[in-house]
Amino acid sequence: MLHSKPKEDNYLHKGLRKQLVQTLREKGIKDEKVLAAIEAIPRHFFLDPAFERQAYEDRAFPITAGQTISQPYTVAYQTQLLEIKKFDKVLEIGTGSAYQACVLAELGIAVFTIERQKELYDFVGQFFFLKKYPNIKRFYGDGFEGLPTYAPFDKIIITAAAPFIPPKLVEQLKPGGIMVLPVGDDKGQKMLRITKDKEGKVQEEELGNFSFVPMLEGKNK
Ligand code: SAH
Repeated sequence: MLHSKPKEDNYLHKGLRKQLVQTLREKGIKDEKVLAAIEAIPRHFFLDPAFERQAYEDRAFPITAGQTISQPYTVAYQTQLLEIKKFDKVLEIGTGSAYQACVLAELGIAVFTIERQKELYDFVGQFFFLKKYPNIKRFYGDGFEGLPTYAPFDKIIITAAAPFIPPKLVEQLKPGGIMVLPVGDDKGQKMLRITKDKEGKVQEEELGNFSFVPMLEGKNK
């Protein structure tokens, strides 16, 4: 998984990817740009060669350090909720395998992504496929703190289960911005979409139920 050397992306992989995109359409994903990004990215590059077929099933999968690569539907759903526009600056919390970061980067925008686990952060640094996306900037740190130096952001996405809405991230969201995050505990989470209006007032929308690995405080060496 996340090999340093390029891997093959053949007609079989591409065919499986088309089927996956069809599945996502049937499950209600409508944003054509998001679907095209998923069709463009070889998800099997992110998994061990033994799991090439599973890479194109619509489910989450274990990667390293007890973490997971999110389910394609979840990636598509969260990305669609962000309503990405040209020139958006997006902050992602929970780089993990960097699959979600690549989906965002494929939309042609600036992506800032934070991972709290050093092992995963270093691992992803070796991944050949990321060279394709100079518009992704990776950081090792605690997502609860955000990235004050690069704030404010047009969009923020959290890809781990947040115990509450992180106040510093709300601060780092631009007026007119959108933040999408699962909030809850280890029994399950609700997807929330936070929108900040031009006056800085925040509104919350509660969406479906999801299950993510926990968002933890602090960095892990
Ligand atoms: N977006 C990833 C899925 C990530 S799984 C993908 O596409 O593969 C959630 C990730 O969030 C894990 O890697 C976990 O280590 C990380 N994480 C948890 N709490 C965090 C925090 N406070 N700051 C940054 N990353 C965090």
